[in-house]
Amino acid sequence: MTMNILIIEDEKKVAKALKEGLERENFTAKIAYNGEDGFFLLNTEKFDLLILDLNLPGRDGIEILKTIRQKGVSTPVLILTARDSVESRVLGLETGADDYLVKPFAFPELIARIRVILRRGKSDQETLLMVGDLEMDLLTRKVIRGKQAVYLTSKEYDLLEYFLKNKNKIVSREMLSKDVWQDIGRATPLDNVIDVHITHLRKKLDDPFTVKLLHTLRGVGFMISEEQP
Ligand code: CA
Repeated sequence: MTMNILIIEDEKKVAKALKEGLERENFTAKIAYNGEDGFFLLNTEKFDLLILDLNLPGRDGIEILKTIRQKGVSTPVLILTARDSVESRVLGLETGADDYLVKPFAFPELIARIRVILRRGKSDQETLLMVGDLEMDLLTRKVIRGKQAVYLTSKEYDLLEYFLKNKNKIVSREMLSKDVWQDIGRATPLDNVIDVHITHLRKKLDDPFTVKLLHTLRGVGFMISEEQP
């Protein structure tokens, strides 16, 4: 699941650089160049985080933030400010921002702050899925087995996420067709496609290791489990 970020920033160059940088980190990002467009997008789409510039033409960032919180929108907000004054930072945090960053900033720091905010917001949801020595971090999209990184295609990633969310349970081909491939129109499940992806996933996940995690249950489906089902 990709995190969707809204950037409200009037400087086109900065906004574009932010969007591109975020996309390189596997986030999706949209830009609003003023508060009105920002409100519109917040009302029409679900965002996981808002990056808000304070210095905007018309309504400034603090006003936008106040309005958003008054409307009961709880989307986490990271403030960007060129004003390195204590007042604007304090005001921003008091108004309901989650964090702030003073311009100019280093991009890796922005990414680190974003990850902290998103992790905090998700504290009651599972963002780290595990089975045996396999770990999948849903925020960074990193998969690790033992101490080795496992590199997956996006379909393999979706497939593994689904297996892990159904750990120690039987996953049928029908479930995979419907939930992972979102293929509901077809009368027969996508057997060949599923088999090919399972083979690839198993090659990356299990082949280098003695303990196998992804099991086939003949005629029934599959199961991810530390123990042989
Ligand atoms: Ca600005």
